[in-house]
Amino acid sequence: MPYAPIVKPTRWAVAPNLLDYEAARTPDVWERARRDLQGLPRGRGLNIAHEAVDRHARVLRDHLALRWLGRNGDVRDYTYGDLSALTSRFANVLQGLGIGKGDLVAVLAGRIPELYIAALGTLKNRSVFSPLFSAFGPEPIQTRLTLGKAKALVTTESLYERKVVGILDSLPDLEHVLLVGDDHGPTDVEGTHDYHRLMLAADERYTIGPTAPDDVAIVHFTSGTTGTPKGAVHVHEAVVGHRLTGRLALDLHRDDVFWCTADPGWVTGTSYGIVAPLANGVTSIVDEADFDAERWYRVLEEEHVSVWYTAPTAIRMMMKAGADLVREHDYPALRFLASVGEPLNPEGVVFGEEAFGLPFHDNWWQTETGAIMIANFPALEIRPGSMGRPFPGIEASLVHRRHDGGVDLVEEPGAEGEIALRPGWPSMFRTYLGEPERYAKCFRDGWYVTGDLARRDEDGYFWFVGRGDDVIKTSGHLIGPFEVESALLEHPAVAEAGVIGKPDPVAGEVVKAFVTLKPGFEPSHELERELLGHSRVRLGAVVAPKEIEFAESVPRTRSGKIMRRLLKAHELGLPEGDVSTLEEEETE
Ligand code: AMP
Repeated sequence: MPYAPIVKPTRWAVAPNLLDYEAARTPDVWERARRDLQGLPRGRGLNIAHEAVDRHARVLRDHLALRWLGRNGDVRDYTYGDLSALTSRFANVLQGLGIGKGDLVAVLAGRIPELYIAALGTLKNRSVFSPLFSAFGPEPIQTRLTLGKAKALVTTESLYERKVVGILDSLPDLEHVLLVGDDHGPTDVEGTHDYHRLMLAADERYTIGPTAPDDVAIVHFTSGTTGTPKGAVHVHEAVVGHRLTGRLALDLHRDDVFWCTADPGWVTGTSYGIVAPLANGVTSIVDEADFDAERWYRVLEEEHVSVWYTAPTAIRMMMKAGADLVREHDYPALRFLASVGEPLNPEGVVFGEEAFGLPFHDNWWQTETGAIMIANFPALEIRPGSMGRPFPGIEASLVHRRHDGGVDLVEEPGAEGEIALRPGWPSMFRTYLGEPERYAKCFRDGWYVTGDLARRDEDGYFWFVGRGDDVIKTSGHLIGPFEVESALLEHPAVAEAGVIGKPDPVAGEVVKAFVTLKPGFEPSHELERELLGHSRVRLGAVVAPKEIEFAESVPRTRSGKIMRRLLKAHELGLPEGDVSTLEEEETE
C-alpha cells in the first residue's frame, strides 16, 4: 500500500449516520430498512415514487427537493410539494394515453427537469421507466426501444428530429411520443404530443394503485465495456436499498444539499441522481451542463453542496486542471465526497484532501446490483486505492469459477478472486429483459458472480484488480490493468493511462500502456524511457509495462470507463465491435 491510510476524526461536526460499522452488520438490516419506509396508504404495497416524493409531500411540502441549474444560467426550484403535484400530473397524462402498469416508458433527454418529472410520474403510474442517454445515436436508441418494447417515448423536439424520426418505422410497439419543446416551450410536430400541453390539462391529484415490491419499476440498459446491451430489470423494492445506502454510504442527512454529477442515462444518475436523495428527503442539485472544472467549483460553492458524488474521470480532469483552481473558491458546506463507476486511483483520493481538504470515498457497485455494495464509509479509515468494505446487509466474497459450474471461495488475504455477492438484497436486478439464460449464468453455488476481480486484505477491504475480461496474463502472472494505470498516473507528465495485454509469443501477453500527457509535456523517447523506468521502480519488472504509446485520448464509455477492448482492437487492427456507448463518437 503506497499511500498511508486516511484516519477519520474522533469528533465530528456532523456525526455520521454509520458510526459503528461492525455493529451495523446485523442479519436484519434490510428488514429494518423496509420498516423505515412508509409504504402506500392502506397497505397497498411499496412504490418508489411514493417513498421518494409523496411520502414527503406533507411534512416537507415546502422543502426544496430539486434545484435545476440550466446550461445558460436559468435556475428552477421544485419543492417536494411541487414534485408531488407535477409527477401526479404526468401519471395522469400516461393514464389518459392508455399507458398502464408494466408498460415501458423510455425517456431520451439531457438533464432537464421534465426528465425527472417523467421518471417519477412513470413510477407512480406503475409503468416501467427506462432512461436513454441523450448522446446516443439512432441505432443504440432503436436497439434499446426494441428490446424494451417501449410503448411511449418522452424526448425533446430536437432529439426527436435528429435521432428518432428516422427509426420510427422500425418501432411497431411505440404508440406515443411526448415532446418537450426546445427551451421547454410549446411544440407542434405531427404524430407527437406536446408534453407541456398535456401536463397543463392533467389533474394534479393521482392515487397510486397497488404496487407489489416485486413489480417491475426500472429497466437499465447496460453494455459495460464489453458485449451487446442487456436490459437489467429492477423492481419497486429497490427503494429500500436506495434509501439506506444513501443514508449510510453517502451519509445523507435531512439538511444536506446533495449533488450527484452522473447523468440519469446511467444507473448512478437514476439510483443516486433521482431516487436516493429524494427518498432521504434532502435537496438534490441537477446541473444541465457538462463537466467544466470552473463551473463545478462555482456550483459547489454557490449551492452550498454538502455531499458530492462524482466519478474518477471527472476527478482526473480536475487533477489535470490543478488544485490551485479548486482553491479559488470556498466550500464551507462541503463535508463528504464520494466516487463511483471505475477504479479511483489513490492519487484521486489524495487529490481530494489536497484540494478540498476532504478525501474522496470510493465505492463499488454495478447496474445489476442497483445500489452501492462495497464502500468507504464516513467513519472508517480510507485506504487509498481500495473500494472499501461491504455494505451492512451485503455478504461479499471472492471466488474462483470451477469448470463444473460451481465456485471455490478464496479465503486467503491478498489473494485474487472474482467478487461474488450473496443474493437477496432489495435493489438487486431480477432478470435481463428477454434473456433469462444470460441472467441464470450470473449465479453459481448460490452466489451472484460479478465479473470483477479484486483482492481482499486481512481487514476485509476490497481492492479492485480489473474486469475479468480485462485482466492481463503475462508469463503466468495475472495483472490488473488498474494497478499499472495508477502507477503511471503518479508521474507528473501523465494525464490518463489505459493498459492492455498485447499478445506475445513468449510471455502470452505483455503489458502495454497508452498514455495521454498533461499540458506542457510532449511525447519523446526520453519521456517514454522515463515512464518505463518509473513503472519498473513502482511495480517491479513483471508488472511494469514493456511498451508505452503516447495517444491523443484514451477511449472511454460515456459513463467514464476505459474501453480497453477498443485499445486492444486498435492494437491488433481488429474490428471494434459494439461502440454504442463510446464517449467520442455518436454512432449512427
Ligand atoms: P455499470 O454497470 O455500468 O455501473 O458498471 C459496473 C462496473 O463498473 C463494475 O462491474 C466495475 O467493473 C466498474 N466499477 C464501478 N465502480 C467501481 C469502483 N469503485 N472501482 C472499480 N471499478 C468500478
